Amino acid sequence: MIIINENSIVERFMRYVQIDTQSDPHSDTHPTTAKQKDLSKLLVKELKEAGLNNAEMDEYGYVYAAIPSNTEKQNVPVICFCSHVDTAPDCSGANVKPILHKNYSGNDIVLPDDTSQVLKMSEYAYLKHHMGSDIITASGNTLLGADDKSGVAVIMEVALYLINNPSVKHGEIKILFTPDEEVGKGTAKLNMKKLGAQFGYTLDGGEAGSLEDETFSADAVKIIINGVIAHPGYGKNKLVNAIKIAGAILQALPKDGWSPETTEKKEGFVHPVHIEGIAEKATIEFIVRDFDLDKLKQHEERLRDIASKVVSKHPAATMDFIIQEQYRNMKEILNKYPQVVDYAADAIKRAGLNVKTESIRGGTDGSRLSYMGLPCPNIFTGMQAIHSKLEWTGVKDMVKSAETIIHLCMIWEEKS
Ligand SMILES: [Zn+2]
Repeated sequence: MIIINENSIVERFMRYVQIDTQSDPHSDTHPTTAKQKDLSKLLVKELKEAGLNNAEMDEYGYVYAAIPSNTEKQNVPVICFCSHVDTAPDCSGANVKPILHKNYSGNDIVLPDDTSQVLKMSEYAYLKHHMGSDIITASGNTLLGADDKSGVAVIMEVALYLINNPSVKHGEIKILFTPDEEVGKGTAKLNMKKLGAQFGYTLDGGEAGSLEDETFSADAVKIIINGVIAHPGYGKNKLVNAIKIAGAILQALPKDGWSPETTEKKEGFVHPVHIEGIAEKATIEFIVRDFDLDKLKQHEERLRDIASKVVSKHPAATMDFIIQEQYRNMKEILNKYPQVVDYAADAIKRAGLNVKTESIRGGTDGSRLSYMGLPCPNIFTGMQAIHSKLEWTGVKDMVKSAETIIHLCMIWEEKS
């Protein structure tokens, strides 16, 4: 029987969210904002106080720590649990005032610092699962930061639990806290050798029981159209306007599908995100997404065909079509190590929950980690309405997340 100290996890979470750790997409430093280290330093201090003398933060703000194995078995893989300390730039993360709503009644919750911010069950159906239990919100002016400080609090609580309960057998467990996940740089300065883990799990997911093992595969495509410039007063039969060709390419894209605004679930898309140009030369940038790598390539070929056909109507114009890889579906890696997802599903069931396997219509640090050599699905922590002033989380979901992780440590030991 695993008993998580609910008061401790709540106290920990409420304390961490009050530290401003917003990352900055326009910064070139690592971490992108120095203030992220304020939380990272505190985490190192608390891990050391708990007895993990190896805990350290590096110059880039990454926190590494290890809980030694306590089993006779020599072949238990080294497992890593990872969360990000930063919060999203979309919404202020300064002076967060977390509010614990005890015994949630189901009534609207008006946030005190901005009464136009009202959390309603009609808009967030998942609130129903938390009737009669405790939930946490911010006060109306800021996000809450459950993304991903709920993950941080869960991992810290699990570390304490494992240290204080030696009867729970496990292999070596690595703890990793990263900066800058929200600005796509969470793995930029990660030292895989120092981490030294074989498999990993990010704790950065939503509803209780959810397990995400699949992300998009993603490329960027740039189409450069080279027109022909001439003096506009004397351009007859000479001038070929690249801007007009760019417009024609966009006009030729299908209107009934193949875009973010017309697709869902497992469907991929092609999405123009930037256009610039002069009459002589124009550039359109696209992002291309699909869960299936073959289909991703088909989307790119279809886009190339559409653009070529338009450009070919202007014999003097030329086109460059440049594909740049962005990230890949983690499932392609996870399929080679099915036990990573299977054990997580078993752990969720042992915690008394139903497993909800989900696909992410985007990328995560887990997809990057998986391709860096650390197969790494994503496990729930309970966070909801993330990146907004209405962000909230249910206390019992954080508790269940911690229980799941402890079961997962035990399962890896049992099965080895
Ligand atoms: Zn996150």
